[in-house]
Amino acid sequence: MHRSWFLALTIVLATLATLFPVGIGVFMAQLEANRREADQLSVFADAALKRAELVMTQATSAIEEMEVLREEPCSPAHLVQLRRIAYSYRHIQDAGIYGGGQRRCSALLGPVETKGLTLPPPDWRTPDGMEYWFDLANPFSAPRRAMLIGRNGSNVSLDPQTFVDVVDRDARMLAVINTEAGRIFAASQGANLKRMQEAYADHTYGAGSGATHDDDAAVVLRRSRVMPLAVVVLAPRAVLLANWKALLTGGLAVGLAAGLPLGVLVWRRATRRFSLEGELRGAVRRHEMAVHYQPIVALSDNHCVGVEALVRWRRHGRLVRPNLFIPMAENAGLIQQITDQVLEIVLTELGTMLRRHPSFYVSINVGAEDLKSRRFLGVLTARLRGTGITPEQIRIEATERGFLEPDVARDTIQAFRDAGHPVYIDDFGTGYSSLSYLQSFKVDALKIDKSFVDTIGQEAASSTVAPHIIAMARSLGLQVVAEGIEDSAQADFLREQGVDFGQGWLFGRPVPAVELAKLLAKSMPQAAA
Ligand code: C2E
Ligand code: MG
Ligand code: MG
Repeated sequence: MHRSWFLALTIVLATLATLFPVGIGVFMAQLEANRREADQLSVFADAALKRAELVMTQATSAIEEMEVLREEPCSPAHLVQLRRIAYSYRHIQDAGIYGGGQRRCSALLGPVETKGLTLPPPDWRTPDGMEYWFDLANPFSAPRRAMLIGRNGSNVSLDPQTFVDVVDRDARMLAVINTEAGRIFAASQGANLKRMQEAYADHTYGAGSGATHDDDAAVVLRRSRVMPLAVVVLAPRAVLLANWKALLTGGLAVGLAAGLPLGVLVWRRATRRFSLEGELRGAVRRHEMAVHYQPIVALSDNHCVGVEALVRWRRHGRLVRPNLFIPMAENAGLIQQITDQVLEIVLTELGTMLRRHPSFYVSINVGAEDLKSRRFLGVLTARLRGTGITPEQIRIEATERGFLEPDVARDTIQAFRDAGHPVYIDDFGTGYSSLSYLQSFKVDALKIDKSFVDTIGQEAASSTVAPHIIAMARSLGLQVVAEGIEDSAQADFLREQGVDFGQGWLFGRPVPAVELAKLLAKSMPQAAA
């Protein structure tokens, strides 16, 4: 992948990895803020409803007490009783007698029959004769309002504020409603009566009690179970927002705490791969590759006919096996340089031996990119010119990974063969369509993959594959090299099947050139000489 694309992708991924938990944190904070607010509203509404019920209960009790008084109404003895009653109920301001549209007397006013204190008709009357005046002028203080409740001529006077006198530092709006009259008769200071009335109407046809959130406020309605009373509580957005901001800080902190390490992890992961690739790039630039050689023997008499050149990466004083870096080199576009360097090393290290022993050969592995053009063939031809090494002595191993563009690969392979370099299909049998390639690709030999050689002598189903491949190769006139032979039973079996050549630890491990010379001196004196 192109470097800048990779960096951009890494940044995007790392950012996403960081933001995802942060987003979840913020979301949770929002949920939590709403939940808490709903809880608080519920608790508050319950308390407000309790207060309203208490006030109403006191009013009813006081009236009931007045109804059973024996004294002559408005007599001095009766007024004493009224004062006692008014005084004994905390939420009641006055207790009095009325009749004929007039106040007759009360604990606070005394006998006022002659003063003409008229009462309008009541705002609402219950079937059992309880009469309500929701909003009267207070006879003592004009700006203050009074609420009057009476029955059979006995009445109590209340301050509507008593109903909503619930301590609330969040300044939520509260209204108390007589649900049968459908009317708000007490509301907290500054409450938006129209808004509260609407909220009540919204809920009237619903379940009875409930909570809603809309854009600018959260609303809770609580109905009394014992009297025609309900309270509406409305928390404006500002209150919600304050709660939410407090929680947001927590949510953000938690999200960041989880997200940052994740982001860093993603970044590190990605860049480590990236930096390993950078390291490989540097190694190729500084020619830090080495080559080991593994003998290839004729199975008929085990004598070494050639070697396979296997690249190694000298990294921090250690040799890295190609399985770990060849795929990366292919992705990073470094494989062609590696192939060139391997050829260079091979000719430097084995040149003399190849010149002396024209029947001895070296197999070189090429990458997918090398099969897309004749570039490497050009390098190879130029490099061999005048060395006395024949094209036959440098053989090409190509894996199916290189056949992705079959037409181009077929062309390149043919060009190698035309120039005199035998071509092998490496790791044969491991790809999906090995057989189909054989029909259209003209090559010289197959290397049966180690995985099939491993199964020889086992019961596994794949143990029958090797003989098939061998038979087929023979019918096509192809030579066969078996890879990864580790014991003599495998070698015997392959020999019986008519396999010509073998490679594996049984005959020799991949070794540096110096050791290869010693190895050959023992098994093949004429080659090492
Ligand atoms: P390959 O070309 O199939 O090479 C054979 C691999 O099998 C080598 O691994 C070799 O060490 C291993 N091997 C051989 N005999 C035995 C055995 O008896 N037992 C076991 N367990 N393993 C055995 P190596 O050297 O690690 O190479 C791995 C692969 O890397 C090679 O598979 C080849 O595909 C690739 N490679 C190696 N050198 C180059 C190169 O210069 N260029 C390219 N493009 N690829 C290379
Ligand atoms: Mg190979
Ligand atoms: Mg192989």
